[in-house]
Amino acid sequence: MTIDHFAIRPGDADYDTARATITRTAEPTVVLRPTSPAEVAASIRHARDEGLPLAVRSGGHNALGFGTIDDGVVIDVSRLDQVELLGDGRVRIGAGATWGPAAAALAQHGLAITAGDTISVGVGGLTQSGGIGWMVRKHGMTIDSLLAAEVVTAAGDVVRASTTENADLFWALRGGAGNFGVVTAFEFQAQPVTTVQFGTISFALDDVAQLVSRWAQVMRSAPEELSATLALTPGLGDFPAGATLFVCLASDDTAALEPLRAIGPVVAESVSERAYAEILEEAPHAPDGILPVIGNTLLTTLDEPLAEAIAEAYAVGGRVIFLRGLGGAFGRVDPADTAFAHRAAEVLVVSAAFVPVDAPQEQFDAARAVWRTIADRGIGSYSGFLGTNSDEDVAALWPAETLERLREAKRAWDPDNLFRRNFNIAP
Ligand SMILES: Cc1cc2nc3c(=O)[nH]c(=O)nc-3n(C[C@H](O)[C@H](O)[C@H](O)COP(=O)(O)OP(=O)(O)OC[C@H]3O[C@@H](n4cnc5c(N)ncnc54)[C@H](O)[C@@H]3O)c2cc1C
Repeated sequence: MTIDHFAIRPGDADYDTARATITRTAEPTVVLRPTSPAEVAASIRHARDEGLPLAVRSGGHNALGFGTIDDGVVIDVSRLDQVELLGDGRVRIGAGATWGPAAAALAQHGLAITAGDTISVGVGGLTQSGGIGWMVRKHGMTIDSLLAAEVVTAAGDVVRASTTENADLFWALRGGAGNFGVVTAFEFQAQPVTTVQFGTISFALDDVAQLVSRWAQVMRSAPEELSATLALTPGLGDFPAGATLFVCLASDDTAALEPLRAIGPVVAESVSERAYAEILEEAPHAPDGILPVIGNTLLTTLDEPLAEAIAEAYAVGGRVIFLRGLGGAFGRVDPADTAFAHRAAEVLVVSAAFVPVDAPQEQFDAARAVWRTIADRGIGSYSGFLGTNSDEDVAALWPAETLERLREAKRAWDPDNLFRRNFNIAP
């Protein structure tokens, strides 16, 4: 099969948009936009035959720009974006769909899948990270709703993976960060969800450590229907300084919000019944000339010393910190069931320090040193929000026994490490 009818090359009208992701613009030899698994297989063959490195892209939201590449082949699956109902709440979603349109299509049938918080994030990348969304405590990670995947392997075969077919691949896809093949479609079990209570409660910044600590305490005994993210934002660019709690309550029992109102002095509130598909938002952009230094860590217990460390890191300034509450259905999954294994975490801390692009190296090092005061107390990290790619960063994504099992799957499905522009698992 020729690839020419879905290839975009330097000089073509679409090349300038096709070569870029949200964080990086590169100079690929060719960007391929296949419309079927057979065309994906032809794309993989092209890269192999030409001996060119490969990047795979769905929504292009990886922080390191893994979805594009210099002097190589990009397989962009964005045209594989169909959403199809299979009955009994099961849905098939093309890996190239993004979560906003996918949620809107499901909403027409009274269904929802807990996925990301952002319209333009890709189904392909988020699902293979694991997926931490607005109903994570009620319905678990996105991968916990996954029933099967269609994958084009490094050998160019189209295979199905589920608990009964190619089970090792199915396990590895659920948190293996895009190491095992090009996923063309996923089948999910969607939930009957139409509206949620959603919005923000904003607090005065009087005592950040106490606010953080009380929030963690309340979340420990909160109903699973309640998921919440506490955002500590500095006064910078588009971001106003503040402590804003985003809440998503997948029930009508708004009394569940009451303990949250008592964690600190409330300065504003807007929580109302909203259609689930409408709470997803556009991606924020870092202010011009700023390079966010992004890290994340998963904490088993956000105790008072950790709350102090978070407050101190925030007080240094120029840093946004998001605390995403976990537990509930997220924590009930056996860590051995999926390649994302850090199920013991009760909180995910995501930090982005804003450093001017042309700042001296010491400023970047200082931002990382502040982050380490929190990161070193976590059990590992989440590939979705990882902004660095050292061996140490990759090692933190999976416990040692999980990584060994992932390596076995890599040897079986991609022994030549064709899929290596990712948080790479060496075969
Ligand atoms: C603004 C923003 C908001 C976010 N919000 C959330 C959130 O709420 N919850 C959450 O869990 N995560 C969130 N994320 C993180 C996001 O899930 C990851 O960055 C994810 O990898 C992005 O997926 P993508 O398809 O858009 O990215 P891409 O850059 O296209 O891909 C990311 C990685 O996955 C691989 N990949 C992509 N598609 C395929 C495929 N079809 N087959 C094989 N490999 C593939 C790529 O090679 C790359 O390594 C957010 C990120 C951003 C930038």
